[in-house]
Amino acid sequence: EQPLQAESTSHPRGLYLLFATEMWERFSYYGMRAVLVLFLTKAMMMDKAFASKFYGGYTSLIYLTPLIGGFIADRYWGNRRSILTGGVLMALGQFTLFFAASNYGPAATHGLSHQLLYLGLGFMILGNGFFKPNISSMVGSLYSATDKRKDAAYTIFYMGINLGSFIGNTITSLLGDTGHPGDFRWAFLACGIAMLLGTSIFQWGKTKYLHTPEGVQVGETPAISGGIKGVFALLPVLLAVMLGILWLDSAKFPTIAPLLGLALVAIIIMIFSDKSLSGADVQGVLVIFIVSFFVVFFWAAFEQAPASLTFFADEQMDRTLFGYELPASIFQNLNAFFVVAGAPVMALLWTALGKRGSEPPSPVKMAIGLALLALGYLVMCLGVHNLQPGVKVSMFFLVALYFFHSIGELCLSPIGLSLVNKLAPVKFASLLMAVWFLANAAANYLAGYMSSLYPDPKSTAPAPVLLGFTITSLYDFFLVFVVSASAAALILFVISRQL
Ligand code: GLN
Repeated sequence: EQPLQAESTSHPRGLYLLFATEMWERFSYYGMRAVLVLFLTKAMMMDKAFASKFYGGYTSLIYLTPLIGGFIADRYWGNRRSILTGGVLMALGQFTLFFAASNYGPAATHGLSHQLLYLGLGFMILGNGFFKPNISSMVGSLYSATDKRKDAAYTIFYMGINLGSFIGNTITSLLGDTGHPGDFRWAFLACGIAMLLGTSIFQWGKTKYLHTPEGVQVGETPAISGGIKGVFALLPVLLAVMLGILWLDSAKFPTIAPLLGLALVAIIIMIFSDKSLSGADVQGVLVIFIVSFFVVFFWAAFEQAPASLTFFADEQMDRTLFGYELPASIFQNLNAFFVVAGAPVMALLWTALGKRGSEPPSPVKMAIGLALLALGYLVMCLGVHNLQPGVKVSMFFLVALYFFHSIGELCLSPIGLSLVNKLAPVKFASLLMAVWFLANAAANYLAGYMSSLYPDPKSTAPAPVLLGFTITSLYDFFLVFVVSASAAALILFVISRQL
């Protein structure tokens, strides 16, 4: 009976446990992120450029700490302990933000709430580092190495991510983005509760459902592990380091960009100094690095969603639908919606093309993703072309942008992940996954910087300049992304044969 069951097309119950856990965690992560910049500008009274860079620094560190969390899980803690720790830390972060948002105001008069803001984000950064890489890798561990259901399992899991994001974003926009700055705290409270719920579901079901087809428990503390307590004692140090970096980067000088560069150099040295790699291995690694480089351009433009695109929805767009004014932050939700609705369609499309022998190779799919991203911004450019002061743009343009961006995401993100999985030499599988995360970290940092160039008609400061190009209008601003994304798409397409 056993082998028959393993070969079946249905999935182990453990997948649905991980699905539910990740759904609540993403509710919490994306729900909070959706209202973050509005909270920073409207309640904490930061200017838009500062809030943008702050957002970029925060999300960048969010993608940097999985390197630490993955490493600690592999050596000392195992997935389960890491997920529990990460979940608790993130819930703590959300509740801290709730307190920060309960007594909001500018830093000069509300110093304490600004300190709590940093502390809350520090908890989130550290917690995510323990949570995210471990929950993702557990999905694969439920199956044997050659199990054909693995790809489908990750697709189902990606749906969980976006379903959580959709529900979370909806609730936090309605609760927090009401026009009254005092309401943001309810959004953070909801996210804290969601995080506790996700962690509790995981704790409840882990022993029963998280095992291999042979019944071996997965994600337990590794046999060789020592230092469980040692790592635990390290947590306050790690937290202090993250807080220090976030503070230095936002208030003093760019700290995160050089840090990412250092991490990259360290990884390159670790991989290429290994003499046991074959020529084919090295080629695979090179392809991962090249593809990751292009991915930076994708996410840097894509992650404008909770930043400049939310400023745009808030100030420059007509948000009335059937006589009701929608909150600005709710529009990002369209991304999760289109991903959930579009994923099955895209899967069918690739299969149909595959049957005719004309399924594009992975780098070409990723180039198409970048081209769709450029197309989304092109539509936006049409919407804001020659925009007169005081005139608001129809929401159609933003809806169309999110449609193209989401289909682009489906061409690039899952495809890239599985490409990394396939090309990485087994020995460096986790480290090369870290390269993918690092590309995300760099992209998010860049996204914050780009959003800080958002032209503010009310500002008296000189217009922002990017590589000699002065950004004086929304049209100029969105054009930057059209140009960068289509250039990246074109180059990736041209070199795809070699890749
Ligand atoms: N939306 C996906 C997630 O949260 C992927 C995000 C990314 O890779 N930048 O997991």
